[in-house]
Amino acid sequence: MNVKVLTPPARGILWVVAAPSGAGKSTLVKALLEQEPGMELSISYTTRRPRPAESEGRHYHFIERSEFEQRVAAGAFLEHAEVHGNLYGTSHPAVEQALVAGRDLVLEIDWQGARQIRALLPCVGIFILPPSRDELERRLRVRGADSEAVIECRLHNLREEVRHTGEFDYLLVNDRFEEALEKLRSIVHAVRLQRDHVLPGLQTLLHSLLKGG
Ligand code: ADP
Ligand code: 5GP
Repeated sequence: MNVKVLTPPARGILWVVAAPSGAGKSTLVKALLEQEPGMELSISYTTRRPRPAESEGRHYHFIERSEFEQRVAAGAFLEHAEVHGNLYGTSHPAVEQALVAGRDLVLEIDWQGARQIRALLPCVGIFILPPSRDELERRLRVRGADSEAVIECRLHNLREEVRHTGEFDYLLVNDRFEEALEKLRSIVHAVRLQRDHVLPGLQTLLHSLLKGG
């Protein structure tokens, strides 16, 4: 009997996580990465000024607008967009390196970037919602990272971001943090169990089960 088992390459999974500013995306993703092995965060480039608690290369690569534009022209970004008045972009080589090496990569990007990524690569889109507008506003203020004008701008952009929830595979309300984190982990576990992701690791078993007809 001629047995043929398809062997897809064991590429990492690309996770695209978006949310209105202040919904808790970065906090949830940080906790997720601490608990789930084999996942790493893509460090974006931005023209935004660093917040007091942020450092170069850990939260972002902070660059000037002129350098950002040069990088766009050189094709260095897989996607890029203007968000809340600043430019943000995802490094093309960094994404490719992680996926080819079989590592899962999380992109924390806005809906415009998510749309660009979806057109280019297979990915899993997760959109995080705050439990209410008031709570979102409270979180933006409690974070204490942005000026009043920046907070107003981000609240103003809430509707535009939420309008694109239909472009994502999973919607998650971040009300109670631990519950939201568990749901996020459940999504990760379920996707990792999809056929295309488990097949590469099952080749030996499948061959042995199919042998001898
Ligand atoms: P985002 O990355 O979506 O802009 P952050 O992760 O920076 O948002 O979270 C904004 C603020 O809300 C932070 O101060 C964070 O500690 C807080 N936060 C996140 N999730 C929750 C939650 N479930 N309940 C209460 N506060 C939260
Ligand atoms: P913040 O300034 O609060 O770090 O991020 C503001 C917004 O920019 C968030 O919605 C965040 O997801 C988005 N963002 C961060 N990095 C990127 C990126 O590389 N590309 C795109 N398109 N958006 C990004």
